[in-house]
Amino acid sequence: MKKLVLIGNGMAGIRTIEEIIKREPEQYEITIFGSEPYPNYNRILLSLVLQGDSKVDDIVLNDYDWYKNYGIVLHSGDEVTKVDTENQLVYSSEGKEVPYDKLIFATGSNPFMLPIDGADKEGVIAFRDIKDCETMISTSKSYKKAAVIGGGLLGLEAARGLLNLDMEVDVIHIQDYLMERQLDEPAADMLKKELEDQGMNFLMGKETVKIRGKNRVSSLLFKDGSSIKADLIVMAIGIKPNIALAKEAGLEVERAIVVDDYMQTSAPNVYAVGECVQHRGMVYGLVAPLYEQGKVLAEHITSQTPEQTAGYEGTLLYTQLKVSGVDVFSAGEFVDKEDTKAIRVHDEFEGIYKKVVVRDNKVIGSVLFGDTSDSPRLLDMMKSEQDISEMNKVSILPSEQERGTGESPVVAMAESETICGCNGVCKGDITDAVKTKELSSVQEVTQVTNAGRSCGGCKPLVSDLLEHTLGEEFNKADQKQPMCGCTDHTHEEVQAEIKEKHLTLVREVMNVLEWENKEGCSSCRPAINYYINMVHPLEAEDDANSRFINERVHANIQNDGTFSVVPRMYGGVTNPDELRKIANVADKYNVKMVKVTGGQRLDLLGVNKEDLPGMWEELGMPSGHAYGKAVRTVKTCVGQDFCRFGTQDSIQMGIDIEKKFQGVQTPHKVKMGVSACPRNCAESMIKDIGIVGLQGAWEMYVGGNGGIDLRQGELLCTVETDQEVLDMISAYMQYYRESARYLERTSHWIERLGLEHVKAVVVDDKKRQAELIERMETTLSTFNEPWEQIIQDGKIKQDYYEVKVTS
Ligand SMILES: Cc1cc2nc3c(=O)[nH]c(=O)nc-3n(C[C@H](O)[C@H](O)[C@H](O)COP(=O)(O)OP(=O)(O)OC[C@H]3O[C@@H](n4cnc5c(N)ncnc54)[C@H](O)[C@@H]3O)c2cc1C
Ligand code: SF4
Repeated sequence: MKKLVLIGNGMAGIRTIEEIIKREPEQYEITIFGSEPYPNYNRILLSLVLQGDSKVDDIVLNDYDWYKNYGIVLHSGDEVTKVDTENQLVYSSEGKEVPYDKLIFATGSNPFMLPIDGADKEGVIAFRDIKDCETMISTSKSYKKAAVIGGGLLGLEAARGLLNLDMEVDVIHIQDYLMERQLDEPAADMLKKELEDQGMNFLMGKETVKIRGKNRVSSLLFKDGSSIKADLIVMAIGIKPNIALAKEAGLEVERAIVVDDYMQTSAPNVYAVGECVQHRGMVYGLVAPLYEQGKVLAEHITSQTPEQTAGYEGTLLYTQLKVSGVDVFSAGEFVDKEDTKAIRVHDEFEGIYKKVVVRDNKVIGSVLFGDTSDSPRLLDMMKSEQDISEMNKVSILPSEQERGTGESPVVAMAESETICGCNGVCKGDITDAVKTKELSSVQEVTQVTNAGRSCGGCKPLVSDLLEHTLGEEFNKADQKQPMCGCTDHTHEEVQAEIKEKHLTLVREVMNVLEWENKEGCSSCRPAINYYINMVHPLEAEDDANSRFINERVHANIQNDGTFSVVPRMYGGVTNPDELRKIANVADKYNVKMVKVTGGQRLDLLGVNKEDLPGMWEELGMPSGHAYGKAVRTVKTCVGQDFCRFGTQDSIQMGIDIEKKFQGVQTPHKVKMGVSACPRNCAESMIKDIGIVGLQGAWEMYVGGNGGIDLRQGELLCTVETDQEVLDMISAYMQYYRESARYLERTSHWIERLGLEHVKAVVVDDKKRQAELIERMETTLSTFNEPWEQIIQDGKIKQDYYEVKVTS
């Protein structure tokens, strides 16, 4: 048997070996050297380990048994120090000398560290391997302030992880907006706002010039003279190919090891794959191209006619950010140029931005934020260079409704469209595997096809495709989706346990249900907090620290770090006294803008956090809850008192509804509207709950949505009296509160459950209706006006509103 030696036990090298074994398991006697003391692991998922969504053991791709089973000799924790290409020998740091017939370099990259004064201090690290992750986790136990240098993919993933470890995180970025290599300004701004909501603090346009501290880092100094404190600094500013060994061995290197289309280096029988490679001038830092390289190399060195195998031609790159709660996709050319045109969708309400860049009737790039479901289709259009001149431009970015309400995008995808970009697996590969190999779970699909084996971003699509392919046989129970990586429990299971075991504290839930990540994360903690408050309204202890920033400070954070304040105006009605108070407060606190909102309220924008309690005190009005996962506004038309078409008193109905349900916490925001006739001036048909007046009756519409997933409400019932309207809202909203998953809008919830089912519970089953109303009444009895509470509580004021000076 010929001898094959691999230097580098990382993602690209081992994938190449897998491809070789798949083709010719007996052709080579394989020896692998890896300087890290582990088997091959999924480096991409280090972000999830840091964020607490996975453990180190979970990200191992090939355990030690795999090497044994294929007769591979693995020297882990042993670095190759010298290669003699003339005598075809490699030498290792532990003194091994191994001959080869074929040699593969897969030495990856090293993180780039800023060469500044103090960069060698204790507490300054990169984010590249398991050791870095462990350092961050252990540091968080003794220190609190972290700074991440670099606002790119890696930096933001590191920052999210550090937040989950309960550290305060400053992200320092030299440019004026984040991820400038992947995003345009609007998408980057939305991303920044979302991450600020999650608790990150950004210092933009700052250049770090010095790291201070005795032995350990204590602060950073910027070029403009300002500084911040830091106990830990993570540098995430880029990578440089690991080429020292190749250079010393005499291989041709430029930015990386130069290879031809068969991944052959300048030396005979020596190949290279992965981040250490330069192919046609390109050096790649994502796995999709590296895996393609591995396939080409495997085919070439196992073939009897290697010169006839297909060469590597380069790869179209795309990016996704792995931060929970943030969906970002970017591919190709996304910057507008003179010869390009763009199709854009920007919904500020739902936080969705989509941009598709077109040149010569071909899609050449795209940026998606907030909803990335179009990404496989767009990527495919880019790869196939599809001519779109005949296409209706709107169909390039269809809304969910145009695709077919609630239908997964996989249904409309062609068999040749890519589902897993990292591993190059298309829809047809998966459907074939499901049918021929009788697969029934996502895990099995991953094992057989590799789809979802790298960044895991495509797993929801794989699940949808499995369901679509299996039809009736798809067993949802087997596919249960855990709440997040901190636990195996689903939302439904957590809620049931909270009820059954009478759990009333967030920490208690995590302890009793044996959370794998003891601290929880930004996905599960707000959800648990919601469930305990919903299930045990009289006993639950609300945990403000488990809430998103807006709900913690009871105001809406804006893109410049200031806040917006919306006082409640029941039914959208105000009076000269209230307007005078608002005007006085706006003047006194230098409010940047007073804006009438779509929900008929006044929004005071541009307020500093420390001014919030004072403003509320002087306003003396209740909070409009415009920031919360809660009942928001009730929009009303002028109704019968003023309008000649009016059949009902819509204003009074709106006021009554708002007064009764103000502040009720719901899985997601709930907007309502009351119109006094079917002309619908209060847009009741696109509200979560819409009331429409008829002669002597009211209609109640539910599940409407006016955002990007535009959805018309459906008729739930028609009632005669005002009291019946209030009762039906109570029953319906309580059922939504109890059966929706946290962060599920009513429009999605009703599609999941079906209108008929909801009707049967809320309208037809009078006993359940009465029970739901009773539980809603209990919840309503606990209402406290949040702004009033804050004004009276000095400790809350100090903890959440006082500005803490750190430098
Ligand atoms: C936190 C993080 C998140 C990421 N997220 C994504 C993502 O979402 N999507 C994506 O596509 N990519 C992502 N990447 C990038 C991806 O992980 C890399 O592109 C990929 O791991 C590179 O594979 P490689 O085999 O070339 O290098 P590596 O995986 O780095 O493997 C190289 C190995 O070679 C070893 N080695 C080096 N020199 C020697 C020697 N002389 N002797 C023995 N062993 C040696 C190294 O120790 C290392 O273990 C991420 C990377 C990180 C760090
Ligand atoms: S909805 Fe009907 S009643 Fe209300 S303002 Fe419009 S036209 Fe008048």
